Amino acid sequence: MVSATSGTTIQGSFDPLDRIASVCEKHGLWMHVDAAWGGSVLLSKKYRHLLNGIERADSVTWNPHKMLLTGLQCSVFLLKDTTNLLKRCHCANATYLFQQDKFYDVSLDTGDKSVQCGRKVDCLKLWLMWKAVGTQGLEERVDKAFAYTRYLVEEMKKREGFRLVNEPQFVNVCFWFIPPSLRGMEDSEDYREKLSKVAPNIKERMMRKGSMMVGYQPQKGRVNFFRMVVLSPQISQEEMDFFLDEIERLGRDL
Ligand SMILES: *Cc1c(COP(=O)(O)O)cnc(C)c1O
Repeated sequence: MVSATSGTTIQGSFDPLDRIASVCEKHGLWMHVDAAWGGSVLLSKKYRHLLNGIERADSVTWNPHKMLLTGLQCSVFLLKDTTNLLKRCHCANATYLFQQDKFYDVSLDTGDKSVQCGRKVDCLKLWLMWKAVGTQGLEERVDKAFAYTRYLVEEMKKREGFRLVNEPQFVNVCFWFIPPSLRGMEDSEDYREKLSKVAPNIKERMMRKGSMMVGYQPQKGRVNFFRMVVLSPQISQEEMDFFLDEIERLGRDL
């Protein structure tokens, strides 16, 4: 089995699904796409190309509770399967459950296809939200998140203290804030160590003050950096500006 990712959690990167699908086809491998984070991009005509090739996958996971903001939790597992695989894997053959001699097509029943038995009907939340705001409403959420990400990134480039970890492909903006005391000091011995303390310090300050909540983490040899994920449909340009100003305010004396 090969698991490709559409929208990695930290950087928001998209694997080249068409190329991976060709490798899987050639070698007879099961192709799974972890689209937990990025699957919602399919709703956008402008950006869905990031997932080109997903239709060739054998299975896909997608969490509408992330980018589409469906109430937690709402996770989808999609399977391209004609052999009733899930039922063959999970059916407990309990005689008191899920009768097979009912009057309709019992292959539509989900009871015997999951590991669990009594669980909430999470898909109802997705269905209701989709009915309420429509495909176009969901598409607008996705497109707006991309547009605000672009705004944030361009503003960061204008400010001296912000350094992007990479050019975002999605709505994850990973960046370091370099306080004035560390600017131009990249070659000094303790630069990395000092920089690694900046994000936790600013985070502590924002939490004590109660002004923002933004996560940070180290990754593969990179010291702690912030990860701002832009997606609320209620977000405004002023809030983006506040975000940048506030980081500068909280970190300028570090
Ligand atoms: C959030 C996330 C997951 C985890 O999904 P859960 O439904 O919380 O288990 C898996 N993969 C990626 C890429 C994610 O962003």
